[in-house]
Amino acid sequence: MADEAGLTPGAAGRIGVLGGGQLGRMLGLAGLPLGFSFLFLDPSADACAGSVGDLIQAGFSDPEAARKLAAAVDVATFDFENVPEATARAIQSTCPLYPAANALGAGQDRSAEKALLTRLGIQVPPYHEVSSRTDLLEGLDRLGYPAILKTRRLGYDGKGQALLRDPEDRERAWQKLGDSDLVLEAFIPFEAECSLVAVRGQDGEIRAWPLTRNVHSNGILKLSLPGVFDQALQSMATGKMSALMEHLDYTGVLTIEFFLVGGELLVNEFAPRVHNSGHWTIDGASCSQFENHVRAIAGLPLGGTGMTEHSLMFNWIGEMPDRRRALQISGLHWHDYAKSPRPGRKIGHATLTAPSLEDLQAKAVDLARIAGGEFPALLETIFD
Ligand code: AMP
Repeated sequence: MADEAGLTPGAAGRIGVLGGGQLGRMLGLAGLPLGFSFLFLDPSADACAGSVGDLIQAGFSDPEAARKLAAAVDVATFDFENVPEATARAIQSTCPLYPAANALGAGQDRSAEKALLTRLGIQVPPYHEVSSRTDLLEGLDRLGYPAILKTRRLGYDGKGQALLRDPEDRERAWQKLGDSDLVLEAFIPFEAECSLVAVRGQDGEIRAWPLTRNVHSNGILKLSLPGVFDQALQSMATGKMSALMEHLDYTGVLTIEFFLVGGELLVNEFAPRVHNSGHWTIDGASCSQFENHVRAIAGLPLGGTGMTEHSLMFNWIGEMPDRRRALQISGLHWHDYAKSPRPGRKIGHATLTAPSLEDLQAKAVDLARIAGGEFPALLETIFD
């Protein structure tokens, strides 16, 4: 079992995960072959990670449940960044928690997150804190239209946001979000959205996967394509990542989402965890984000982050396309999270792999046709 330094290097053990969604499930699927077992904590009795480990059904603010998890595992982590910082601190007082509570807290408030990045010399979109109608007017005077009003806490996948195109939208946005603390951001006319997923070991070694181009629709990630940006951009992104990871004395996988505009990378947000835009690493990289997160928190050597083939990930939101038809495409890797379908819910993804970008694009056209909906149109934007 655990000693003060955490797991005995090289020895398998039990990993606790706060959150039992698809990210926890994929952490489990990556950690089981390394010999680890998993204990998840999630409010839902049918949390989909429950099929790859044991499950404590409890809320994230339940201190008794957090203590129970901490007492039963060698090391703990999370698959969900909105775990209350107090719960993370309670766990940390009993067993090692990676990333640590300070890193979890750093990204939970959009305004504090932007202030931290700015202090570290990392550029973010111009923003203005808003807690009153007067602040909103001041912010719009300063930033102009269009602008995006966002809740400071608990927003994700475009939730808790309102786009203000002109003064007509102001009152509607205030009615929708005015009950929360807010931040107003300048709307960035980006050329592309991209993300960097990286891992830092307990010894401070940092490895980053290739920068990944992302296409969103209605605030939700739909497509991720790694390996299409040049080395200069990769180095720029990795420099920002290293500054943040070192400042937080981070252990595990961290993701930064960027807007690419005029050759610059502005940070939209960071997530102290494995990320949807890194799912392609399961099938397209030497070592996946999930396996490397497990390796990092267990104090094991990190695996390679290079691409083994060209990859493209399709995210299945609310419904999955016909599996039998999709599996006819060679190089298709299917991931069903075993969650019941509901509009807007992430229920699975598929990654296509191919030896060349041309081959990948041809396969992607086939898969987009099978998936239907907006996929054929979105595909055109990612390969342009
Ligand atoms: P978020 O929940 O902050 O990651 O936002 C979801 C999506 O909304 C992003 O991936 C972008 O596509 C879009 N978005 C958010 N903030 C901005 C911004 N300041 N300028 C332009 N688009 C944005």
